[in-house]
Amino acid sequence: MRWSRAFLPVLKETPTDAQIVSHQLMLRAGLIRQTAAGIYAWLPLGFRVLKKIEQVVREEQDRAGAQELLMPTLQSADLWRESGRYDAYGPEMLRIRDRHEREMLYGPTNEEMITTLFRDEVKSYRDLPRTLYHIQWKFRDEVRPRFGVMRGREFLMKDAYTFDLDEAGARQSYYTQMLAYLRTFQRLGIRAVPMKAASGPIGGDLSHEFIVLAPTGESEVFYDGAYEEFDWNQSELRYGDEAGLQGLFDRVNATYAATDETHDLGRWAEVPEASRRTGRGIEVGHIFYFGDKYSAAMNLKVSGRDGSQVTPMMGSYGIGVSRLVGAMIEASHDEAGIVWPEAIAPWKVGIVTMRADDDSTVAAAEGLYDRLRAAGIETLYDDRDERGGVKLGSMDLIGLPWQIVVGPRGVASGVVELKNRRTGEREELSAESALARLAE
Ligand code: ATP
Ligand code: MG
Repeated sequence: MRWSRAFLPVLKETPTDAQIVSHQLMLRAGLIRQTAAGIYAWLPLGFRVLKKIEQVVREEQDRAGAQELLMPTLQSADLWRESGRYDAYGPEMLRIRDRHEREMLYGPTNEEMITTLFRDEVKSYRDLPRTLYHIQWKFRDEVRPRFGVMRGREFLMKDAYTFDLDEAGARQSYYTQMLAYLRTFQRLGIRAVPMKAASGPIGGDLSHEFIVLAPTGESEVFYDGAYEEFDWNQSELRYGDEAGLQGLFDRVNATYAATDETHDLGRWAEVPEASRRTGRGIEVGHIFYFGDKYSAAMNLKVSGRDGSQVTPMMGSYGIGVSRLVGAMIEASHDEAGIVWPEAIAPWKVGIVTMRADDDSTVAAAEGLYDRLRAAGIETLYDDRDERGGVKLGSMDLIGLPWQIVVGPRGVASGVVELKNRRTGEREELSAESALARLAE
C-alpha cells in the first residue's frame, strides 16, 4: 500500500477524550473512530489488525476440531422467551421492534440460537459431541462504555458452543477449548493466564477467564510465575488425547492464578514468594460449562445408545476479538507508539523515503517496494511528500515490526537502513540483504 493513496489518518496530538494508552494510540494511529457512544468504525489499519486476530482465533478453533458457522446479529424475542432470559437479561439487551411490531433484539450472545439450531437437526447420540462457533458482532448496552474498544457496546466476539452426551464428555470439550485458548493467545504473542472464575450458574470448577496483564486492566490479579514458562504450542499435547488433556487441566488448576473475586489467601501463601506475580489484567476470554441449562429449558434431546432420551450437556467459550486489539496494544507499546507482534501486524514492513524530492532516493524506494510486493511481503510504502522526520514518527506510531529507511546518502553508497521497531536496532545493508532478511 502506498501511504499517499491510503486512508490512514494519524493524529499528532493525543486525543483528550481517551483515558488509557491503547485507546489513545488507536485514535492517534488511525485504527478506529467513534461513531456513537461505545460504537466504532474500524478504519483500514485497524480493520487489517482485527482480521488478523480473527484469523488466528479461527485457525486455532479449527485445529481444535470446532466448526465455524455464522448466526445473525438480530434475534427474535421469542427465542429468548424459551429459555426465560428475555425478561431476565436486563437493560444491557438492545430491544428492537420491526415494522410488524415483532419484538427483536440485537444479540448479546447466542446460546438460545445455537441450541435451537442444533435441536432442530440433531436426533441421535451419533451426532455428538459437536463444537460450533462463529465470529460475530454483539451488542450489549453497557452502562459505562469506556476505554475505546475495550468496553464497547458493539463488539466482535468469537463464541463457541459445545454439545456432549454427558458431563465426562463435556469436560473433555472444555479442556480442548482451554488448550485452544492457550495456543491462540500464545500465537498472538501475549500472555493470557487462565484464572478460575467465580463459578457460573451451576457451580463446579469449569469456569475460567483468560486475563492479559496490563496496568490499566479492570481486575486485580494474582498468579504463579510458572505460567511464564509454559509453551502450549510446542507441547506434545494432542487434541483427542484424553489423559493428556486431563493432565493439562490438572496442571492449570494446580498452578495458582486468580482475580480479586476468587483470590484465595491460603493457596496464595503456598506459592513460593519469588514466583508470586500480582498486577492488573484485562479479560480477553471466558470459558464455562453450564450443563443442561439451555438444553433442558429448550427441550433439546437426542436418543441415547440404549434408546433412552438424553439431554446434551453444553458449554460456552468466548473470546473478545475486538477487545484484543486494545489489550494487545496495552501489552505492547512504547513512548513512540504501537509495537505490533509480527503475527498480527497490519503490514510487516514500512518503507520510508527520507527525501521525496530526490530522484535517486525515490527510484530506490520504488524498486524496493516492487520487490517486497513481488516476494509477497506485506508492505506499507510511505511515499508522501512530507519531511523525513514526520514520516519516521508516523511509522513508529503505527508500529510495523520492520522499517526500511531510504535516504540519499545511503542510496549513493548502495545501502538502506533496516530498523527493528521493537528493539530499535538499526542496521545498514544492501537492499538485497534487507529483502532476504524480511523474506526469512
Ligand atoms: P466483562 O466481565 O468484561 O463484562 P463478560 O463476562 O460480560 O465480560 P463474556 O460474556 O464472558 O463477557 O464475553 C466473552 C468475552 O467478550 C469477554 O471475555 C470479553 O473479552 C469480551 N467482551 C465482553 N463484553 C465486552 C464489551 N463490552 N466490549 C468488548 N469486549 C467485550
Ligand atoms: Mg466473563
